[in-house]
Amino acid sequence: MTLKIEHLTGGYTGIPVIKDINLEIKPGQALGLIGLNGAGKSTTIKHILGLLRPQKGSISLNGVSLSTQARKFKKQVAYIPETPVLYPELSLKEHIDMTILSYELDADQAWKRAHELLKLFRLDDKLDWLPIHFSKGMKQKVMIVTAFLADTQLLVIDEPFTGLDPLAVANLIDLIKQVIAQDKMVLMTTHVLADAQQAISTYAVLNNGTIEIVGSLAEIRDFYGLKADDPFDK
Ligand code: ATP
Repeated sequence: MTLKIEHLTGGYTGIPVIKDINLEIKPGQALGLIGLNGAGKSTTIKHILGLLRPQKGSISLNGVSLSTQARKFKKQVAYIPETPVLYPELSLKEHIDMTILSYELDADQAWKRAHELLKLFRLDDKLDWLPIHFSKGMKQKVMIVTAFLADTQLLVIDEPFTGLDPLAVANLIDLIKQVIAQDKMVLMTTHVLADAQQAISTYAVLNNGTIEIVGSLAEIRDFYGLKADDPFDK
């Protein structure tokens, strides 16, 4: 039960954006993917979601290969994007129904869980709302609710903290801790380490498309010769 990224090289056109990336996440592990703007974090995520085709290398989850068993792979991955993507014509209730259908969840159990999650994020009285009625932060919360509802082996989260109110950040951190405790895997990109480190203790630093170091924030600071209060400049 592991996410394995092996020798992954890829990007958008001819010139690779990410180069020879190797990463492993085991059950009950969360990995933070950090690095400056343009380092390749979102590009790595797009490869894990199967939105980009690798030039070289492979991605597998519990031995299921993304390139040869994409459907099976994707059923085990939920995603919270940085910019919420909702269907304009579907209500919040229909977004929950869609998640239940696409992840083949038991409808009764899933709706029970959905009500808990919706209540946590103060969305429980908005089931008939369309996306146009939601603020950006509320749309983000809908993405969080549906991703946790999907209850997958791997949860991929792209920069979740900017734009969320403090209560939602605290709830999100708690939910991340819960899925880690359930032996699932989390991969999260972020620039907001103060929030991230409440749930995540191991980080991989991407610099110009390659992984420079994987370790705790203290080990990473040590590696770059940074003091505790220095901003990360890698
Ligand atoms: P940020 O912290 O700003 O979100 P990031 O680490 O997620 O940055 P990426 O979005 O992966 O960085 O970008 C890595 C490189 O890929 C950048 O040089 C960027 O210009 C390039 N890039 C990103 N998206 C595209 C695209 N759709 N087409 C071509 N190049 C792209």
